[in-house]
Amino acid sequence: MQNILRHIPKTDKLLKALQCELEGNLNLNLAKKLILEFLENYRQDLLQGGEILEFQACVQCIIKQYHSLTQKSLKPLVNATGIVVHTNLGRSVFSPSILQEIYPILTRYNNLEYNEEKGCRSERYVHLKGLFKALLGAEDVLVVNNNAAAVFLIFNTFAKGKEVVVSRGELIEIGGSFRIPKVMSDSGAILHEIGTTNKTHLKDYKEAINENTAMLFKAHKSNYAMSGFVKEVEFGEIVELAKMQNLIDYYDLGSGYFGLSGFEKSLKKFEPALEEIAKLNPSLVSFSGDKLLGGAQAGIIFGKKALIDELKKNQLLRMLRVDKFTIA
Ligand SMILES: *Cc1c(COP(=O)(O)O)cnc(C)c1O
Repeated sequence: MQNILRHIPKTDKLLKALQCELEGNLNLNLAKKLILEFLENYRQDLLQGGEILEFQACVQCIIKQYHSLTQKSLKPLVNATGIVVHTNLGRSVFSPSILQEIYPILTRYNNLEYNEEKGCRSERYVHLKGLFKALLGAEDVLVVNNNAAAVFLIFNTFAKGKEVVVSRGELIEIGGSFRIPKVMSDSGAILHEIGTTNKTHLKDYKEAINENTAMLFKAHKSNYAMSGFVKEVEFGEIVELAKMQNLIDYYDLGSGYFGLSGFEKSLKKFEPALEEIAKLNPSLVSFSGDKLLGGAQAGIIFGKKALIDELKKNQLLRMLRVDKFTIA
């Protein structure tokens, strides 16, 4: 038996051979772990009558294991589905030119939370405010990890223990287990359903309002359509009613687009541009960053400054906040 075990190569010899084969790219800690693991398995194998391996075969065996652990499983694919923004294929393809533009910011120190003029601490969200003001006339903007986070944060901040009025036609489920009723209950908000599956009228909203109502909510029907004997209330009417009743109106828009590109003419008949929604002077609107072509994963919230200030005070924001990559 001892005779067989003398075929087991020495650890340092294997390590030298690995260094030789992989040149400068070897992580020593990982290589040593894999060598020990290999030797232990090899020893067991030999004792059970397994085949004796050449030294080089041992080296190749360890290299194969090393590569399978160090190579990234995330890799580029060809999208042949016909769906341009495909959630399972990485959603929006990141724009190479944006990546180039932000490279110097991300690979150096930057003013993420620093005001150089005043020489003091600042806040990461200020970098986006000017643009949203100019493009949408929005009072303020806040960006969180994704739109699901935006929905949760908004319900949790303004409707904890209070009622949110939603049409039964808009109690949506998005792929990956995002369901409005569940998000609402987990956030502490109370769902107040109104209307029917196919028809909801403005009077349904009016009749639902009581002393515990916090918000009138509309969700975009992102992944389904209803036709036939149907009626939904336009967001503009919801905004007006909310204003009269001193309530918050909130539109979870799912995706949104800026009507800047000329591209909007073909979209307009399906979806209003962000500019048109902003003109309604809403309390709050949120949408995904990576359902837009070339966008990064984010939940973008815009609306009234006083409300965005409240969102910023919620401790949850610290857990949902975006990093310099997304802000850039
Ligand atoms: C996609 C979507 C969400 C969730 O957004 P994520 O960016 O996936 O977090 C929420 N609401 C609506 C209406 C959506 O379409």
